[in-house]
Amino acid sequence: MKRILITGGAGFLGSRLCDRLVKEGNHVICLDNLFTGNEKNIKHLFHHPHFEFLLKDVTEPLDVAVDEIYNAACPASPPHYQKSPTFTTKTCVLGMINMLELATRHQAKILQFSTSEVYGDPLIHPQPEKYRGHVNPIGIRACYDEGKRCAETLCFDYRREFVTRIKVIRIFNTYGPNMDSMDGRVVSNFIMQALKGEDITVYGDGSQTRSFCYVDDLVEGIIRMMNSREDFSGPVNLGNPGEFTIKELAELILERIPSKSKIVYKKLPKDDPMQRRPVIDLACRELGWEPSIELKDGLAPTISYFKEYL
Ligand code: UDP
Repeated sequence: MKRILITGGAGFLGSRLCDRLVKEGNHVICLDNLFTGNEKNIKHLFHHPHFEFLLKDVTEPLDVAVDEIYNAACPASPPHYQKSPTFTTKTCVLGMINMLELATRHQAKILQFSTSEVYGDPLIHPQPEKYRGHVNPIGIRACYDEGKRCAETLCFDYRREFVTRIKVIRIFNTYGPNMDSMDGRVVSNFIMQALKGEDITVYGDGSQTRSFCYVDDLVEGIIRMMNSREDFSGPVNLGNPGEFTIKELAELILERIPSKSKIVYKKLPKDDPMQRRPVIDLACRELGWEPSIELKDGLAPTISYFKEYL
């Protein structure tokens, strides 16, 4: 039985990972400060003999014996990570150092949840891993973008300096059940607005694009990366290459939810990337992974989840 630490384990992705890894017969230690994570996502695991919950911040040092670490802890939606930007950078950087120290001490494998945000507002489209990005280092998204870029740097320096067993994934926009209804992301915002009959708030003219991956596809890719050959560290893009404008997303959601909501246009936030689509050739080749759930199919269970929530 493997002992697996998941930081940010009460969040959207972390909690889905807790479920899957407990089900597969591992001993899971979930660490979360509940800043954006939610106890309700993991409550059903509290009485499981192979699940532990640590209410702790990833920036505090930690010593537990583990075989694997999934480092997911960090607020990930722009309104949340911008609410306390210095805390976001600290979480990315100090959290990464703590977890790399832990992994090195126990010779554990560590998988870092990096992000497509390392590409910033990309000048190359679609984005392969070798693209070095176009990030505004002093903008309002930098606390997250640069924090995550520095976390990647730390991973590769620990590998070079201390032979730490690192794996880095770059996660593109992901959606599905367990998303926080209030976290301000586009999929949750639009579905909640449509369900409540409120205006659908498209920022800018809605021509900016994103690629949306269903959470189950992503979790499969994450686990394959952890189990990939020892000398493969990535970084590897994980996302769905289907690309949609934000206006198309609003229309898709309105087609699926009978609603009196109408689309309204609001100011585009600063530094909002204009386009985003992953090149996933590396994930296909190294992990034998590609997403199997199209946006139109993944929206149904996501809408059901939010309906139940309401
Ligand atoms: N967005 C929008 N309306 C909303 C929330 C977001 O039009 O109510 C836009 C946002 O400006 C961005 C895209 O949707 O262009 C994706 O935003 P999200 O916050 O989900 O993720 P990220 O910008 O980090 O990709």
